[in-house]
Amino acid sequence: MAGERWDAIVVGGGHNGLTAGALLAKAGLATLVLERRDVIGGSCVTEEIAPGCRASTTSYIASMLRPEVIRTLDLGNHGLRMVPCEPAVQVALEGGEVLANWTDPARTRAEIARYSPRDARAFDEATAELRQLSARLQPMLTELPPDTRAGRLRGAAELARVGGRLRGLRGSDIEGLTRLVSSSLGGFIDARFTSPQVKALLLANNLYGKHGGPYQPGTLIGLVFHMLTGGDDDEQGFFGHVIGGMGAISDAIAAAGRGHGLQIRTGAEVAAITAAGGRATGVALADGTELGAGVVLSGADPKRTFGQLVDKTDLPEDFRDAVAAIKMDGPCAKVNLVLDAEPEVLGMPRGASPGQRALFTLPPSLDVADRCYDRSKRGEIADADELFVDCVVASAVDDSLAPSGRHVMTCFVQYVPYRLAEGTWDARRDELGDKVLARIGRFAPNVPSAVLARQVLTPLDLERTYGLTEGNIFHGDIRFDQLFHMRPVPGWARYATPVRGLYLCGAGAHPGGGVTGAPGYNAARQVLRHLRSARWRRR
Ligand SMILES: Cc1cc2nc3c(=O)[nH]c(=O)nc-3n(C[C@H](O)[C@H](O)[C@H](O)COP(=O)(O)OP(=O)(O)OC[C@H]3O[C@@H](n4cnc5c(N)ncnc54)[C@H](O)[C@@H]3O)c2cc1C
Repeated sequence: MAGERWDAIVVGGGHNGLTAGALLAKAGLATLVLERRDVIGGSCVTEEIAPGCRASTTSYIASMLRPEVIRTLDLGNHGLRMVPCEPAVQVALEGGEVLANWTDPARTRAEIARYSPRDARAFDEATAELRQLSARLQPMLTELPPDTRAGRLRGAAELARVGGRLRGLRGSDIEGLTRLVSSSLGGFIDARFTSPQVKALLLANNLYGKHGGPYQPGTLIGLVFHMLTGGDDDEQGFFGHVIGGMGAISDAIAAAGRGHGLQIRTGAEVAAITAAGGRATGVALADGTELGAGVVLSGADPKRTFGQLVDKTDLPEDFRDAVAAIKMDGPCAKVNLVLDAEPEVLGMPRGASPGQRALFTLPPSLDVADRCYDRSKRGEIADADELFVDCVVASAVDDSLAPSGRHVMTCFVQYVPYRLAEGTWDARRDELGDKVLARIGRFAPNVPSAVLARQVLTPLDLERTYGLTEGNIFHGDIRFDQLFHMRPVPGWARYATPVRGLYLCGAGAHPGGGVTGAPGYNAARQVLRHLRSARWRRR
């Protein structure tokens, strides 16, 4: 092959591709990251949405970035600064009240007890259970899932390894695991809580990105995920604002990688991953340039990687079918706003701290959320008074995002279809933006007239601009049949693919989506393991 040759090429400069690239460069491999956009970060990015005003256009809260990634790449010394969200979550309620979940349990208990002392006790109990379960599952995020297709000898070793994890489980862990797999978030909430206000607090932020109504089995997973540790101090249940927006995470990872010699090119779209004799040989760019590589890692999602970049004759048919069947389509959107006044949320206490003024969620009731999902499944946009919207006014805690007198507010919308039953997203984009503003206006009446700039990102925009197939924010739904040894598809959960020397390193691989850095971290370590054993075999 003519042209440059690299030890490793990473397709896609999302935060996972950058993490993988940085770790490979740190291990001494000549590594190149190729990003199709003019900016790195993928869905972990900060972009200017109006002159001088910058927003986390896609992901907006850091709750799951793995401490292993922060430490290994020394991200604190490469500009990463996260400040805890305080409160972690806050709901704005019908009737002009707010209810917050603080990091101080006593303060949260007192808030909840305003509505129901019984619910306050139940909240403490549920939190303790979820924390325990989450702590049990957490190590699995940066471990290889079991190889379900291993031969007899290795299969036995795999069983022993997984069995070892289960050995320490207590009876209450087993109950928790059973609930996790088989119950729904809605069922869990209804069984333990009575007050609609407290139910709203538990629904808020635990279904995001999920394809399924709150009563669908398996939806409890969001609550457990949010109890993972995060932040600089490995705190359980951490939610953080990233100073400089989410792009500061990607920038810090890139800076760490560059310090180890990582090369990053933007505006470099990969048109094909080349292979010969069943082995990856490099990539061909959209401009026709060919680059050779010892190994290729793809941080693009599985459908894009195997459906568009790899020649189908290099893949077994059953693998192609399994990839095509990955559940993706939607179901989220984002509306990013620049305001000339800070949102005045009804019921916000006088003298509320900047942290409290920086976030509020507008969850519908569980029943309405269920209906919203059903409507999105039918290709409909919910009515304004039913929309599930999560608002973060990041500029309240980070004055680097907007000049004085300007405020940046991002609004995540849960349950929006990728495929509309009627019309096109290009024709109906503003309808969604208008409905979101109408919904917010009921809880923060000054917002609609304070809008100076508005960016509406429909699922189609997430696909076109950010390269997320079918707009799926996790590169494949987070559901039990698409997790752990089943991710991206059964038999291929350990980053390697049917094309030798080609690895998956993005959110489509274990442990999945969210800004964790875990798939990139795990994939790089697996590549290095394979390279070491290949060298050892050649000796
Ligand atoms: C609207 C939205 C809100 C979210 N909110 C949160 C949140 O608050 N907290 C959280 O933890 N997570 C959130 N997420 C999820 C999280 O952002 C993603 O799961 C995660 O960022 C995925 O990272 P990644 O590196 O695996 O992939 P991506 O970020 O998708 O990166 C893949 C990269 O590959 C590039 N690429 C694709 N094809 C090619 C090609 N052919 N050639 C070159 N480059 C290519 C893409 O342009 C992209 O930059 C959100 C996501 C979205 C979209």
